[in-house]
Amino acid sequence: MAGEHDQATVQPRAAPVAAADRLGLGRVPMILMYHGVADVAEDPNQLCVTPSRFAEQMTWLKRRGLRGVGISTLVEAVRAGHQRGLVGITFDDGYVSVLEAALPELLRHGFTASMFIISDRLGGSNEWDEGPSWPLMSADQVGELAAAGMEVGSHSATHRRLAGIGADQLEAEVTGSRARLGELLGTPVRGFAYPYGSMDAAARQAVRDAGYDWACAVQASVPELGFMALPRVYVGQRDDARRMTAKRLLFRGQIAARRHP
Ligand SMILES: [Zn+2]
Repeated sequence: MAGEHDQATVQPRAAPVAAADRLGLGRVPMILMYHGVADVAEDPNQLCVTPSRFAEQMTWLKRRGLRGVGISTLVEAVRAGHQRGLVGITFDDGYVSVLEAALPELLRHGFTASMFIISDRLGGSNEWDEGPSWPLMSADQVGELAAAGMEVGSHSATHRRLAGIGADQLEAEVTGSRARLGELLGTPVRGFAYPYGSMDAAARQAVRDAGYDWACAVQASVPELGFMALPRVYVGQRDDARRMTAKRLLFRGQIAARRHP
């Protein structure tokens, strides 16, 4: 019977990563992944850390002589071979709580971060999640982030899964969001983060073709590793200093264990 099986055999298991985008496991930097920073009553998807926990995690970085930076800064350092002491900090979705609670703490430490904004949901809420509703930043609030020195990246146009979708839809989510955010900021958008970490070779290629310089995944596998699929380390409310230290020691080993997409 024709169907899913036939399609699966036509698609390559993993398209080769272009030479310029390749990144060996030993050079993969630590990139932290956050969503909201707020004291919320209900958080079934574990997307928030409280402001006090976030402050503790930033202090943990500082005490170890590490500096939190946005991903364009980090990627430039990796390419130049000067990434020692740098840790990437990222926030997905663009929650207002990031502007209110994370930004002051980042500035207090002299850190920067990359914030991934959903271009067609400015001023909206996280309707795609089942669970509590949290407000997303407006266009003006995204401008405030950029003015404070934070990097603004794209998190697609509408927050849909990109793996397996058609070329037109990919174009709208990837190229469309870059154009809209670039117009808003008055400067080219360099980075992308795949919603739900969902990507395939076509999505990575679309991101490259749209003119992005790098993209953040979540659990990229070894064959997918590269500047178009930078893996990230989830950080949650349970992550005190001891757990942060463990995550730092273990993250490359965990990537190495993911042999297949
Ligand atoms: Zn998201």
